[in-house]
Amino acid sequence: MPDEKKVSDNDQYRHATRLTFLFLVIYLAVQHFYSVQPQTLSYTAFKEQVATGQIKKISIKNETIKGEFSSPAAGTTDQSATFKVILPPVDDPGFMPLLEEYEVEIEAEPTEMSVVMQLLIGIVPWLLLLAFFVYSSRMMQKKMGGGAGGMFSFSRSKARRHAQESIHIGFDDVAGLDHAKQDLREIVDFLKNPDKYRSIGAKMPRGLLLMGAPGTGKTLLAKATAGEAGVPFFSISGSEFIEMYVGVGASRVRDMFEQARKEAPAIIFIDEIDSVGRVRGTGMGGGNDEQEQTLNQILAEMDGFEADEAVLVLAATNRPDVLDPALMRPGRFDRKLVLELPEMAARKTILEVHTRKVPLTDEHCLKDIAARTVGMSGADLENLVNEAALRAARDNRERVSPEDFDYARDRVVLGSEREEVLGEEEKARIAYHEAGHGITAFRMEHSDPLRKISIIPRGRALGITEQMPEEDRHNFTQEYLEERISILLGGRLAEQLIYGDVSTGAADDLKQATLLARRMVSQWGMSKELGSVSFPQSEEHPFLGRDIAQPRNFSEDTLKRIDREVVALVTKCEAITATLLQENLSDLKRLATALLEHETLVEEDIVSLLASPQASDKH
Ligand code: ADP
Ligand code: MG
Ligand code: ZN
Repeated sequence: MPDEKKVSDNDQYRHATRLTFLFLVIYLAVQHFYSVQPQTLSYTAFKEQVATGQIKKISIKNETIKGEFSSPAAGTTDQSATFKVILPPVDDPGFMPLLEEYEVEIEAEPTEMSVVMQLLIGIVPWLLLLAFFVYSSRMMQKKMGGGAGGMFSFSRSKARRHAQESIHIGFDDVAGLDHAKQDLREIVDFLKNPDKYRSIGAKMPRGLLLMGAPGTGKTLLAKATAGEAGVPFFSISGSEFIEMYVGVGASRVRDMFEQARKEAPAIIFIDEIDSVGRVRGTGMGGGNDEQEQTLNQILAEMDGFEADEAVLVLAATNRPDVLDPALMRPGRFDRKLVLELPEMAARKTILEVHTRKVPLTDEHCLKDIAARTVGMSGADLENLVNEAALRAARDNRERVSPEDFDYARDRVVLGSEREEVLGEEEKARIAYHEAGHGITAFRMEHSDPLRKISIIPRGRALGITEQMPEEDRHNFTQEYLEERISILLGGRLAEQLIYGDVSTGAADDLKQATLLARRMVSQWGMSKELGSVSFPQSEEHPFLGRDIAQPRNFSEDTLKRIDREVVALVTKCEAITATLLQENLSDLKRLATALLEHETLVEEDIVSLLASPQASDKH
């Protein structure tokens, strides 16, 4: 059965098209037959015609009379030999006698259309529709791996086969990710010289799973691998398996693997595999039969590989936590590569890759930008370069300057500036709030250096105080974290100090401070009262950057103690900040005033303002 498939696809299309067309013609003919309109006579004219002996024969049906003239009027065609009359709704007692008098042949027809005709007219359109769907869904199941789409183009296969020549990227286009590239080079070498490995009995890994946060270059790396190996590359996205028709996923998998085997050595790439590869049988996350069948088919296909078949299955996901463990078994996706968010050096090379075609005023500024983009993924950086280039082009400049990058970074990270006019009073309050964060950050011992303070509203924030870590941090000390909480509370405390009350503007600060304190207490064992024990309530997802709930396996009592400790910790930090701000009240005022005047202050401004002797003399 699968053999006839490829050859006959086109024939089937033609056949289906022809059949549909035929049905249409018949249907239209029937319709036409029933709606041929002969000339219409008025009732009076008709009676006159009868009285002059012109009518030979009529047939009566409901309130219409159809009939033939006995001899066509001179100069008329055959068509006008028939006519139609609508009978008036009133009874005409002279009607029948008149007809009899002039010997008109009368025929009566049944009131209703014949049953067959009715059926035909009622059913044909549905038959047509049905035929269309049956055909298109059959096409859909049969077709994989490209080919002409014809009128059923929506049923075209979803697996895109990329020819060797059409992939123009290689490992050079992927910056950073060195260990992943190293692993993949090995596999590329196998795909290029399978015999070298076979002769000493080495088997190639069948499946390789790329895991990493969105935008870390999983898709890019898979393509680059195919580009390096120069083998056919079949790519499909997990979500595409389960579209439109139920029951298609599994057969798509089958066809894709079949084709890849035929063209081995080859690479199959299943992007976003989590959409089909979720843990089976949980009924969670839209898990259903369709998804299970598709997954089972993938597993079966991977098991079915011969030991020396050179087909590599690459898959990518940002949710490895939801994947079915069966996928990870040896012989399936037994190799895993984690793509981390890029470190500073990697960010610099990613920026270099994406600025290859972007002329810069200063090549060295990339290092600085890399330092300021902690936590950004490759995709974010690409976007950043584009934003910067857009701004330069908008201002009709030929080169992109560091200021453009600065602007782009703030825009990407913080959102665009809001064109909002704030009242003087509100502005002053924001200035004091931000100055409060600023002074605390400046005076704290372990905190990251201040980079910028601004009271221009951006995105959701009314103002920002930005600190920049000197290097990417992976590990935080308790001291550093406590200071972080203090800094977060600084804004609100400054408001309290100056105005005697607080505003809603600090909601986000409080949320962050509390979250941090909670983690310190329950996850990182940083509370003396609870000791070095972990009580996870929620945990940050490794790639998604948000928390995922954890089942609670500790007592209600512990929960209360955690809450108490969190409050105690935040209160302690608050007291420290309050004292610090009190001691630096004059600095706070000076900083706020400077902010009101300039709106944005950068590192140098802040340092020269706060480090001047005037500052240390007073207080
Ligand atoms: P993912 O599939 O992990 O979500 P993509 O591979 O689609 O991310 O990456 C999106 C874009 O980000 C890529 O097209 C590429 O331009 C850029 N990018 C991501 N990582 C890198 C990297 N390491 N080097 C160069 N560009 C990258
Ligand atoms: Mg992707
Ligand atoms: Zn704040």
